Amino acid sequence: MDGGGFRSILFLRDHLQTYPYLPEYTKLSLMQVYAVFGDPVEHSLSPVMQNAAFSALGLSARYLAFRVRRERLRDGILGAEAMHFGGLNLTIPHKEAALSIVEPDENAAAMGAVNAVAFRDGSILGYNTDGLGAVRALEEAGVRIAGVRVLIIGAGGAGKAIARQLALSGAEVSIANRDRRRAVDLAAAVGGRGYGLSDLAKLVPEAEIVVNATSVGMRAGDPRLFDGRLLREGQTVFDIVYNRETELLKDAVRAGAVAIDGVPMLVWQGVLSIEIWTGRKAPAEVMEEAVREELRNR
Ligand code: NAP
Repeated sequence: MDGGGFRSILFLRDHLQTYPYLPEYTKLSLMQVYAVFGDPVEHSLSPVMQNAAFSALGLSARYLAFRVRRERLRDGILGAEAMHFGGLNLTIPHKEAALSIVEPDENAAAMGAVNAVAFRDGSILGYNTDGLGAVRALEEAGVRIAGVRVLIIGAGGAGKAIARQLALSGAEVSIANRDRRRAVDLAAAVGGRGYGLSDLAKLVPEAEIVVNATSVGMRAGDPRLFDGRLLREGQTVFDIVYNRETELLKDAVRAGAVAIDGVPMLVWQGVLSIEIWTGRKAPAEVMEEAVREELRNR
């Protein structure tokens, strides 16, 4: 299609209300497409959440999930750019590999992971909204971060993003990981301290905020990372697992601690993605309700 034809389509897409007589399939083809790439991706909550946001914003847009194999990520991203997608989210296993395909901003480069991609004037730009999403989730719950002792369990993709963002927000960060070496390396990068999981019995009672950034708890029957009786009133326990109520969160409630699940982080990283793509303020409450409703129905 020549440039003139494409501009007409963009014009039509932005003025769909003016053309109510267009057949449904034409309207669909004029919609701005967004997507999440992952493998597996079937259970992603992002389409439900982001489509609820686009509807509430009145945008003519559709958000889809695509299973993209690890070795085809470059093809997928370049294809999305060629087809004028509005933007992408990336999930397991693509967040780190994307660094060599897109131009990461300073934050994504420092975190070593990209979870949001924007296409702008021929450039493919990479961002990381996971860390800021976690900070926003804590702030929205009224939890203070600056000057506070935070224990992050996990040094994978999410752990890295959260550790960096919390350190930037002024927290005193300790990181414990099954592979202790990864915790020590991450701690060195963010100015914190690194430990193995055997140190948790000492670290948990000392922390004011305990973050689970491992995948432990995603499956019913997963063993606990530590004895729940180590938790106490006055602490905040933030478990970023979002697909079920974890034993850790139940332990936190029993101990009288503030318990925050992974849904608000999921929502805020999505809110920030929409802001990057469209410049619009996304409706966090609508998005959270869509996610919780979907989880209730699964
Ligand atoms: P990842 O890069 O694969 O990292 C996994 C982490 O979990 C590593 O620290 C790993 O330790 C640890 N781990 C795995 N199995 C363990 C076990 N049996 N015992 C102790 N530690 C174990 O994954 P990720 O992307 O960071 O994601 C981690 C979790 O966060 C997932 O549940 C994901 O769904 C969730 N998440 C939530 C959000 C949100 O918005 N709420 C966003 C991103 C991720 P080793 O280094 O020793 O292997």
